[in-house]
Amino acid sequence: MVSLKITLMTLIPPTTSAAQLEKASAAVKLLFPEALEILKDLVRIPGIAWEAFDASQLDKSAAAVKSLFEELGVFDKVEILRAGYGHSQLGAPAIVATRKAKNSRPTVLLYAHHDVQPPGDDALWESTPFEPEIRNGRMYGRGAADDKAGIIAHYASVKLLAEIAGADFDLGLAIFIEGEEEAGSPSFVSFLEAHKEQLKGDVIVVADSGNWSTTVPAITTTLRGLASLEFEVRTLDHAVHSGMYGGAVPDAMLALVRILGSMWDENGSVSISGLFAQENSNLEYSKAQLRVDSGLLPSTKAIGSGPILPRIWTKPALTLIGLDYPTVALSSNTLVPSVKAKLSLRIAPGDDPERALEALKGHILTHNTLGAEITFGAVELGKPFSLGVSGWAKTLAEQSLSLAFGEKSVDIGIGGSIPFIAELERVFPQAQVLVTGVEDPDSRAHSPNESLHLEGFQSAILAQLLFLLGGNQIALS
Ligand SMILES: [Zn+2]
Repeated sequence: MVSLKITLMTLIPPTTSAAQLEKASAAVKLLFPEALEILKDLVRIPGIAWEAFDASQLDKSAAAVKSLFEELGVFDKVEILRAGYGHSQLGAPAIVATRKAKNSRPTVLLYAHHDVQPPGDDALWESTPFEPEIRNGRMYGRGAADDKAGIIAHYASVKLLAEIAGADFDLGLAIFIEGEEEAGSPSFVSFLEAHKEQLKGDVIVVADSGNWSTTVPAITTTLRGLASLEFEVRTLDHAVHSGMYGGAVPDAMLALVRILGSMWDENGSVSISGLFAQENSNLEYSKAQLRVDSGLLPSTKAIGSGPILPRIWTKPALTLIGLDYPTVALSSNTLVPSVKAKLSLRIAPGDDPERALEALKGHILTHNTLGAEITFGAVELGKPFSLGVSGWAKTLAEQSLSLAFGEKSVDIGIGGSIPFIAELERVFPQAQVLVTGVEDPDSRAHSPNESLHLEGFQSAILAQLLFLLGGNQIALS
């Protein structure tokens, strides 16, 4: 078993010749206009997996995606599947397509999601969210980048794999297009358990992230996790007149700000002890760029210390994201007896959400200098991700991306979380997980005016095609 694992890890993927690259590149170029039209059709379906939205749109979008993969004619089976979860709830429709590997070739699972974020305020969009529009080399529309472009990248690369390698190619494939990613993937765990056999792959490509820029491709090797916590701080039995008792009796907010004030050091770095932090990127990202990208005001200082990228990728970040307290309009001269707060803690790759949550709770209790009553409430946990030992798949993906973009692929981190990746790793511990994607720093996923950079998209399809062609030549034993 051990020696098999070593063979897998040290396998050297085949290199792509100039002639092969040219052929693949020409094929992508030829298919690209049609791929864009299919993408537009998908963007026109507003499939949103949140309760307030019309669920029939998700069925419509699932059906459209299913027929796309059926049309390819290379899968043994293409199905729409749903999994139950919780108390008899049913997850959103997902598309699963499978094709068995032949001649000891690996199986590659290609993941994307067909649901999208709600459009938000229509007035903030320069074009209608669900009517795709191409302007200045980008396609605008909700889901154009996140993550319907991921679906099309899978569709187009498989179509061209069959065209170039022949429809009887050896590579095993599994397609998994989820329908509820933006809603937190509630049925993901039970879906994986129920369809473990169909979804099993040697490599899992999660196409839901992005590149370093429109011209420099990337593989996302780290993602932060999450531990958020609601808690209530109480100092008084009931509200009292601030003129009568103020000065001798603390209101709840005073107790809370003392706790909060202890959570960051003078630079704004999180000072909760016991949390992981890493410095591990040699990419350049300047303070000036950070200011431009984030909209940080000229007079406001950045927080944290050391290079910028580890601060947003591989170190913890703590944010007060909610507060229940009288509004200014309803305020009166009273000592408010209790306050409820919600803290969101992004945790570093390598850290554990349960452990981090305990560290956060411990910090609150030990810094409660006024002895307020503290009640902990709802929590939300998400595991971080860190690409382990790189095997042939990472090497092949790097080669493919570098060739397709004409620029060397880099490793990037994402400060946000995709908690289901940890579930994929748990259920398929042998698989190599590659997080890729079509977004770029201007894609504005989840925001108004979401868009896809078309040239970068074409290169992303080519990269994935080269990856599949390479995988099709690798014999695992
Ligand atoms: Zn996404």
